[in-house]
Amino acid sequence: MDKSYKTKAYSAASATSALASTTIPRRHPTDRDVQIEILFCGVCHSDLHYARDEWHDVMPAVYPAVPGHEIVGRVTKVGSAVAKYKAGDLVGVGCLVDSDHTCPNCRSSLEQFCPNQVLTYGSPDKHRTAPVTYGGYSESIVVDERFVLRVPTNLDLAAVAPLLCAGITTYSPMRHWNVGKGKKVGIVGLGGLGHMGVKWAHAFGAHTVVFTTSPNKTEDALRLGADEVVVSRNADEMKKHAGSFDFILDCVAAEHDINAYINMLTRDGNLTMVGAPEKPLPVAVFGLIFGRRSFSGSPIGGIAETQEMLDFCGEHNITADVEVIPIQKINEAYERMTKSDVKYRFSIDMASLRSE
Ligand code: NAP
Ligand code: ZN
Repeated sequence: MDKSYKTKAYSAASATSALASTTIPRRHPTDRDVQIEILFCGVCHSDLHYARDEWHDVMPAVYPAVPGHEIVGRVTKVGSAVAKYKAGDLVGVGCLVDSDHTCPNCRSSLEQFCPNQVLTYGSPDKHRTAPVTYGGYSESIVVDERFVLRVPTNLDLAAVAPLLCAGITTYSPMRHWNVGKGKKVGIVGLGGLGHMGVKWAHAFGAHTVVFTTSPNKTEDALRLGADEVVVSRNADEMKKHAGSFDFILDCVAAEHDINAYINMLTRDGNLTMVGAPEKPLPVAVFGLIFGRRSFSGSPIGGIAETQEMLDFCGEHNITADVEVIPIQKINEAYERMTKSDVKYRFSIDMASLRSE
């Protein structure tokens, strides 16, 4: 039997080309695999960074590039050794599709730090179905059951998809830094990640302040759960918060002044970067020295914690705020994303690809 089958997808042929319709190979499910019909796929700013090769020095793009790592779908077939899932189940896949399962990170359920992790797109394909893995802008995907998540059945699926990256990427550092009651927490940048950050900080009981460059997002920020909103281009408003934050999560995708935020931390406060701008950001170290403050980063989250987050969402009725688009609008969505014009995540309805 042929080891692979063809499925429809959208790919970029180069760093400068628009995404366009194509077909890609997927492996037939092996013993441990789950085959998933993709229903929705969120559009992460990382998809754009990757498709346009903006992270060339860290993660060079391989073309054709098929982005997409916020996947929700229905199981269509499982391998003979799969125990957790059966045809018909609603499932999710995030940024990881495999790891080595043996390193200290994997043994601590922290696959996001595994040196041999396989990303959902752009990693060398261990199965050799294609040179690299292909993501969720596609009709179907085949994934090792250990990297498949169970999706709560009480939530809107289009709005669940972004939880698989934007959700876990903001949930994980907030849990790590003990965001909760009595803490003052800042969220910088109200985009896909940022708006989930606001929902978590509010749900965990922290006093939540949003920093935005877009004054027209103020009302939305309050509705999403912020206690205060600061327009970061207003120096006077910024000054009021000097030295007062326990934790700040920076979700900005472009160059900006992080020192302004470091100086807003209290003694021993932490600023965590989840935003991944293409160019280095200068740090004025005196801001760290005075106040023993720390500056760190955080990547996505492990599989167990992603499941914990999805279960938390099911229990507390939390999803992303999405604008559902057909895949044919993906290039327009990218253009809007570069202008910070997303409310607050695009979610692709994959029925639009099936009917092409
Ligand atoms: P997004 O939806 O485009 O949101 C980014 C937000 O940043 C914008 O909405 C805007 O918010 C703000 N912003 C944009 N340009 C700015 C500028 N020049 N100065 C200040 N603020 C600016 O992007 P996203 O999908 O949330 O992703 C955000 C970043 O996180 C990306 O770099 C992405 O690659 C990265 N990411 C990292 C991980 C990880 O594991 N660490 C995972 C996923 C994504 P306002 O309008 O409110 O200012
Ligand atoms: Zn992402």
